Amino acid sequence: MSPDEFREYGHKLIDYIADYRATIATRPVRATTEPGAVRAQLPAEPPAHAEPFDAVLADLNNILMPALTHWQHPRFFGYFPSNATLASVLGDFLSTGLGQLGLNWQSSPALTELEELACDWMRQMVGLSAAWSGVIQDTASTASLLALLCARERTSNFSLSRGGLQAEPKPLVVYVSTQSHSSVEKAALLAGFGRDNLRAVPTDDAFAMRADVLEEFIREDIVAGKVPCAVVATIGTTASTAVDPVGAIAEVASRHHLWVHVDAAMAGSAMILPECRWMWDGIERADSLVLNPHKWLGAVFDCSLFYVRDTQHLIRVMSTSPSYLRTAADGQAPNYRDWGIALGRRFRALKVWCLIRAEGVSGLQARLRRDIANAQWLAVEVAATPNWTVVAPVPLQTVCVIHEPPGISSESLDAHTRAWADRVNASGAAYVTPAILAGRWMVRVSIGAIATERADVEAVWNAMRRAAENTTTGEP
Ligand SMILES: *Cc1c(COP(=O)(O)O)cnc(C)c1O
Repeated sequence: MSPDEFREYGHKLIDYIADYRATIATRPVRATTEPGAVRAQLPAEPPAHAEPFDAVLADLNNILMPALTHWQHPRFFGYFPSNATLASVLGDFLSTGLGQLGLNWQSSPALTELEELACDWMRQMVGLSAAWSGVIQDTASTASLLALLCARERTSNFSLSRGGLQAEPKPLVVYVSTQSHSSVEKAALLAGFGRDNLRAVPTDDAFAMRADVLEEFIREDIVAGKVPCAVVATIGTTASTAVDPVGAIAEVASRHHLWVHVDAAMAGSAMILPECRWMWDGIERADSLVLNPHKWLGAVFDCSLFYVRDTQHLIRVMSTSPSYLRTAADGQAPNYRDWGIALGRRFRALKVWCLIRAEGVSGLQARLRRDIANAQWLAVEVAATPNWTVVAPVPLQTVCVIHEPPGISSESLDAHTRAWADRVNASGAAYVTPAILAGRWMVRVSIGAIATERADVEAVWNAMRRAAENTTTGEP
């Protein structure tokens, strides 16, 4: 494709995306596609000869578009908000179009320096002290793996330079809560701790980790001849946005020399609101932290910020320095290849930079405050309606509910919950996610798509009541 053809089709594509976003509310939220339907419409073999790009655009419109679930839809209340603000989309385009690859500072000075800047802007926006330094990773899953690798090497005093974890005299233990994200468990397993050395601390009535039980577990493990290594606290758990007590956890951790990693993937965005920062009281005592601007904040996926206090430790764990990557600038600018797993990096800072500049801190704050107010409104409505219950505290933008028709047996309740959630989703009118909390199914209404206004929250609430009613009476 020549630059002139790129200009032509690029304009067409931008128009296509702009039209899509302008009319997204008219589409059913969830794709109604059956598994395999997309592939069945596309040739199984690659084209032997060049095709006109118009043919690609036609397939995009006719085959791919009907098979999308619309995350940017104002009535998307599933999983978590994964906002792709259009300004950050342009930043991402730019990253792709410029074709930059960061290997070291010299391979793209602007890439490195804008990443430093973007991480530092975000640090200031969420109220962290200057003791923290950040780097952009693809996902929180990767960031939590990095954190546990750092913890492993600190506790074992660099076992990787000897026989690794395999040669340690005693097993190292990682503590999470029963509400921790599955990516944390995965990170602990990939970092080699082993399932036997991963302990899930129980939670209190608000689904927050019990720091007193953490202390008990640590003492038990020491008596059993193990070495406590790290604890992961979550700010905004996945099921119910519960908030672990970081300060109390850090207190226990410091007594026993554990690494404290804070998973604020979802709720970290809310720390741009001073009134929400109580949620991570004690954060300055943590060692590492992840937050995902690619969720509620609005930087198009993927964009996860990993912050550490001891950058030298991170670099010591991650660095390799083959001759062909050494340059005279080493030591004068960060070599982000030594701050994570991948060597090459995308120019991800552009989408954060575009997002913050286009919306301003006050614009971002106003949007998040709108969403929190909408969640509070829904929680009040649900709690005031007979047979409906809000089953977890609502500190942020997720409201967890159940509907209990009079006289329903507790065995039938789970089936009822899943059935009415399916009805809402199958109707295309809105999209919600059922999940298990405290051993039973409930429905999460996760508010916070950019386009979601109060009227949309009223609409999902109406759809929920209708679906629950019709499920109870057996109406089609
Ligand atoms: C979304 C989420 C994750 C996983 O995020 P990825 O960036 O997709 O890896 C981890 N922890 C919490 C609390 C989350 O909300």
